[in-house]
Amino acid sequence: MANDSTPPVLSIQAVLSASPNGMALLSRDGTIHYANPAFIELFPRTEEAKTTIYELWSLDSRETLPEDVSFFLPHHCTISQVEGSVYHLLSLAVPPVVETVLDAPIDAAMIVTDGSFKITRYNEGAAALFGYSASDAIGRMTPVDLHDRQELDARKLRLEKINLRPLSYEETLLVHGRDTENEWTYRRKNGSILNGRLFMTPLDDGQSGYFLIILDITGQKQLERHLTQSERRFRLFSESVVEAVIFHENGIILDANRAAEIIFRTTLELMKGHQTSEFIAEPYREDVLKRIESHQEEPYEVVGRRADGTLVEIEVFPREIFHEKQRMRVAVVRDITERKRIERMLEREKNAIMRQRDIIQSILQASNEGFLLTEEDGSFIFMNIRARKLLDIPGIAPSKIQERISLIPHIDAQTKHFMLEEVEGLLAGRIHEVSFRFAIQRPNETTDLYYELYGTPVTKEKSRIGKHGFLFAFRDRTEEEKMDQVKNELVSTVSHELRTPLSSILGYMELLLHRQVSPEKTRRYIETVHNEANRLTSLLNDFLDIQRMEDGRQQYEFEEFSLHDLVIETVETFSETARHTISLHSEDDPLFIQADRNKIKQVLINLMSNAIKYSPHANQVDLTLTRQEDHAVIEVKDYGIGIPHNSFDKLFTKFYRVDNSDVRKIGGTGLGLAICKEIIESHGGSISVESEVGKGSLFSVMLELHPRKERIS
Ligand code: ADP
Repeated sequence: MANDSTPPVLSIQAVLSASPNGMALLSRDGTIHYANPAFIELFPRTEEAKTTIYELWSLDSRETLPEDVSFFLPHHCTISQVEGSVYHLLSLAVPPVVETVLDAPIDAAMIVTDGSFKITRYNEGAAALFGYSASDAIGRMTPVDLHDRQELDARKLRLEKINLRPLSYEETLLVHGRDTENEWTYRRKNGSILNGRLFMTPLDDGQSGYFLIILDITGQKQLERHLTQSERRFRLFSESVVEAVIFHENGIILDANRAAEIIFRTTLELMKGHQTSEFIAEPYREDVLKRIESHQEEPYEVVGRRADGTLVEIEVFPREIFHEKQRMRVAVVRDITERKRIERMLEREKNAIMRQRDIIQSILQASNEGFLLTEEDGSFIFMNIRARKLLDIPGIAPSKIQERISLIPHIDAQTKHFMLEEVEGLLAGRIHEVSFRFAIQRPNETTDLYYELYGTPVTKEKSRIGKHGFLFAFRDRTEEEKMDQVKNELVSTVSHELRTPLSSILGYMELLLHRQVSPEKTRRYIETVHNEANRLTSLLNDFLDIQRMEDGRQQYEFEEFSLHDLVIETVETFSETARHTISLHSEDDPLFIQADRNKIKQVLINLMSNAIKYSPHANQVDLTLTRQEDHAVIEVKDYGIGIPHNSFDKLFTKFYRVDNSDVRKIGGTGLGLAICKEIIESHGGSISVESEVGKGSLFSVMLELHPRKERIS
């Protein structure tokens, strides 16, 4: 059993060949004498004769074999002498975790290096990321070759300055691989650039090499760049607007722009973390908080409170915005102090203008004339009540003056036609101004209404309404027309009434002067002249009387007398001359009154003269005197030409005479009844008329009886 002292070589080989780990027998100089199948599988060159481990792994040959070294990772290599033999046993052990991790389908580049930083393992993720294949990388490249060299050198230099010593690339990467600055720029095989995050850890203190994981962060980097850009854009935008932009979370301020600092006179630092309602004036805080709580989005105006305690009027636009799927609440705040000031000023001015307009309108409304303001096309802008009545416009009908003219009631067709022509000429600019007179008939009244229409363009300088419009004024000249008529009547009456007696006086005087006239004729002529002179006198007296009465200068001398006696006396004077029979109907009742006896007599004479004068074809006049309670009533009745009903109300106005041929043939001044009315009314009595054309008239006078005298009698 001498064989027992030396191990049987063949049996060692048999043992080694059975091991799943790579194993080899070496001589002291590193020559591989035997490699088991697992070793040959890893390093096929071993099969060649006399290969040394130094050759196999390109290592410097050494005096002695290292004992426990890892030159080839991930294989941990141990070399130990086989006891009692010249051989050394080399065994490779693969750390199983590294192997598993490298093969795992992780979307990351995983690289293992040896102690000299040469790539020994390189997974699929790395190949996909960098474009280098495993055979490109393993044994030929270091991780440094994957880096952007400029960046790496720059960082290395910086670290060396800090550490005050030279550093290797692996040290540089390792330092950064641990801290937050682990983002690196890499270059692919095709030259393109990618961003990676590096996690690097030494294996066995770096002796055996390093394990590196590189994650592709290119996409993330792009997003970050995009975000910073858009954030910068947003900043720039929000800083450039004059509105305050306040970001908040349920009212708690998170961020704000420069305008917010200006509006609220504070700094962002002092705003952050505070409730927005702190920047609202006390009375409105609760309301604002409610709005924030209920997420209301309607804009509102409120009074803000600045950091220095002063108040500022603001308009708030609350919004909820979504950014990157995140909900943010923002309030845009605008300083509206100036706007409010202007608004208030405008309001005041508007009120002043409206007041002014109201004043002008009430002046126009109160005016006796009709005013009408139209647009350029004739449509109404304003009209006062008189104009409305005249044009018979019930409401504020959107109407035009030219359309309205043809609808004015009671104007004859010819006048309307002329009016329309004139107004249209004015509107069209053919006529510069219109001015004409027209009458409106009043079917139930004796007199017409007389108007004058005046129309003129209102140019821009004169008016603020539109570019240009027209002003129409309707002047009521009915009274003026009446006066005109009175004047005309007066002139013709006076000339006629004066001329008749004068020419008769002149005629008789000439006869007396130039002819030999018998004494009998002479007497008759003189009597006629005397009568005519009397007529002239009474005519002039009438003029003077009416003048005095109208001026209020008429003096009445009151006395108590019996009306009965006065009536008898007057009738007697008429019976001497008149060819009419005057019948007096009265009871034996003195009927005392207190009055101016002569004036009452004048009334009786006027009424009786008219009764005779205006009944040329009748010869009867009835005079009735009666008592009605405490009044005396005198009635003068004739059977003459009568008076039309529509003349009744004008009959007692001066110079009025019924306008018909019968009356014209009969002379008169139109003063008698006016004088009667003046006298009777000055005595507190009344005078009235009843009549029918062709049948006759009845004039009644009512006078109060004298109360005391009446009682005594
Ligand atoms: P005058 O008789 O001078 O014209 P009055 O004032 O006395 O003036 O009368 C006014 C008008 O009234 C008369 O012009 C006449 O038309 C009318 N009138 C007055 N009395 C009578 C009468 N008794 N019958 C008819 N018409 C009368």
